[in-house]
Amino acid sequence: MPEDRVPAKRRPGPEAGVEPSEVEESEESRPDPEVEARRAAALSLIRRFGDPVLKSRATEVDRFDDTLRAQVSRMGGLMRDALGVGLAAPQIGTSQRLLVYRLGLDAPLIALVNPEIEWTSEDRETMEEGCLSIPAVQVDVERPVHVRVRAVDESGAGRLIEASGLEARVIQHEIDHLDGVLILDRVSREQRKEAMRAMRESEREAA
Ligand code: ZN
Repeated sequence: MPEDRVPAKRRPGPEAGVEPSEVEESEESRPDPEVEARRAAALSLIRRFGDPVLKSRATEVDRFDDTLRAQVSRMGGLMRDALGVGLAAPQIGTSQRLLVYRLGLDAPLIALVNPEIEWTSEDRETMEEGCLSIPAVQVDVERPVHVRVRAVDESGAGRLIEASGLEARVIQHEIDHLDGVLILDRVSREQRKEAMRAMRESEREAA
């Protein structure tokens, strides 16, 4: 865990895992007010901890039409504005087995529909994660380092993804959302209590 963590309030709050470098760089310079305003607008559209949709198992997608592709591009836009690296459909209130991620500003947007984890490595590691649905909270989550995931894309074409490190972590975090599982469900009771305290404090500050 980095010792020089920036205070929770100024953290860009990536959806999962370590921040991509462009987000870290933005911490050096003062945050651009326009970027901040776009981020606040995006976050206001993302469901928060306590919303029942985040605790439900999402439904399989069976229609690969323009509506689905519009949903993917909307989620990609929201995720970019929110400075996140991943976003799952339940986070915008749609109970669908759909997630998107992008591992850097110039990286392609990847959409996984009906993803299934086929294999995970025995090799595991613990890293700090945040979640766009749980602002001001960072917890240490242990996960397998490598995964193999079978899914389809937004056009219904099959995809087999072998991922490691940050990519594997983001995919696992987002698939958890499709199963109604949050990072707070994956930490010790102590860490969970601490996180709830941070959440209440940030809500008080925001009020
Ligand atoms: Zn999340």
